[in-house]
Amino acid sequence: MRVVLVTMALRLPTDPSQWITVPPQGYAGIHWIVANQMDGLLELGHEVFLLGAPGTTPASPAVTVVDAGDIEDMHAWLNGPEASTVDVVHDFSCGQIDPDRLPAGMAYLSTHHLTGRPTYPRNCVYASYAQRAQAGDDSAPVVRISVNQARYRFRADKDDYLLYLGRISEWKGAYEAAAFASAAGRRLVMAGPSWEEEYLRRIERDFGDTVDLVGEVGGDRRLDLLSRASAITVLSQSTMGPWGVVWCEPGSTVVSEAAACGTPVVGTSNGCLAEIVPSVGVVVPEGSPFAPDQARAALADLPDPSSVRGAALQQWDHVVVAKQFETIYHEVLAGRTWS
Ligand code: UDP
Repeated sequence: MRVVLVTMALRLPTDPSQWITVPPQGYAGIHWIVANQMDGLLELGHEVFLLGAPGTTPASPAVTVVDAGDIEDMHAWLNGPEASTVDVVHDFSCGQIDPDRLPAGMAYLSTHHLTGRPTYPRNCVYASYAQRAQAGDDSAPVVRISVNQARYRFRADKDDYLLYLGRISEWKGAYEAAAFASAAGRRLVMAGPSWEEEYLRRIERDFGDTVDLVGEVGGDRRLDLLSRASAITVLSQSTMGPWGVVWCEPGSTVVSEAAACGTPVVGTSNGCLAEIVPSVGVVVPEGSPFAPDQARAALADLPDPSSVRGAALQQWDHVVVAKQFETIYHEVLAGRTWS
């Protein structure tokens, strides 16, 4: 099949003359999700047109990187001659593409990567049952975020630190991760961008002795941190999130990424986490503080690196997930619609 993958087109915050690429230069979950999905489709022999990430280096001759990132340019390309030869458009842009502006009859589906109801719920696939329930869309398919082991680094021999990898925000539970590490008596390496100054200051004030703030990471540093950590902390909180709805963790890219590295997960049960953490880690309550015994017992219960990686491969392997999407592409081509 000739498949268009549309990523969420975003300019690089540190250099707005560039677009965030696939895979991304730093923080950007959707761009990693698209990278892993593209790998899976390529391994199944499909051809990919990547829209929304100009400047990306094509992963293979079967990939065409379309030079369109502005929303109007993306719509124009989708209505142009090259797009008339494609079989299906798989849209990860979370509302940048309006399906009503596509040529009549173009096979289209989207995947939702935010919390709350999608802007265009037509033919939307969700990353978790919790996310789908919050969107109120019971008939839609659920397909997990995939992970290509080849893009990650397995390591059985772990260092002593715990890792937080993500945006340093209240709903992502960075403060609770620091509280957990402090109670367990372990160092927490906290990597990620921080756009909420006061929140960051509160973490430094309360847990300055526990937390190593290393800023946003990419490339080898990111893989090194992910693979050496004794566990990753994903203590997502059901507090008010960025889109005016209570945060319900949608798919959690870092869970599958850590698991591919054999790094177990300490997570809350917010949103998708109740569905995906138990096979690769332990679930702890939302909020803080944690009692030292509670935190140490949670760490003692973590599965070993080999079984964590095995669970990741079984559920989220990029080819396994790409096949699930391939089935849905065929259904959409045959006329299936939902929502
Ligand atoms: N990430 C990164 N560098 C950082 C922090 C995060 O590359 O400094 C990546 C991380 O590996 C993951 C993504 O950003 O792929 C965050 O996605 P996730 O779904 O975990 O969180 P959200 O999209 O809700 O922020």
